[in-house]
Amino acid sequence: MAQECTHIENAISFVTLPPGPLRCEECVNKGMSWVHLRMCTKCGHVGCCDSSPGRHATNHFRSTNHPIIKSAEPGEEWYWCFVDEVAFAMKQVQ
Ligand SMILES: [Zn+2]
Ligand SMILES: [Zn+2]
Ligand SMILES: [Zn+2]
Repeated sequence: MAQECTHIENAISFVTLPPGPLRCEECVNKGMSWVHLRMCTKCGHVGCCDSSPGRHATNHFRSTNHPIIKSAEPGEEWYWCFVDEVAFAMKQVQ
């Protein structure tokens, strides 16, 4: 059964990645390393993915309730809603 995100209109202000090189500031501050980066589409926060030890993108959602992240990896154009636990692509956003 297809599940849809109900937060797209309110939670997407940032779709363009900030100028690189991107980094997870929280990992940098703690001397940790990350695997992949995700950008919060509500405020532009960049954090690391759940495969990274810090899981700072998920931590950002838990502390701010900003529901949607975009992959910050080059060439990747997918989004993920933490609340609905659904992934979707750019064409559904525009
Ligand atoms: Zn959603
Ligand atoms: Zn991190
Ligand atoms: Zn945010």
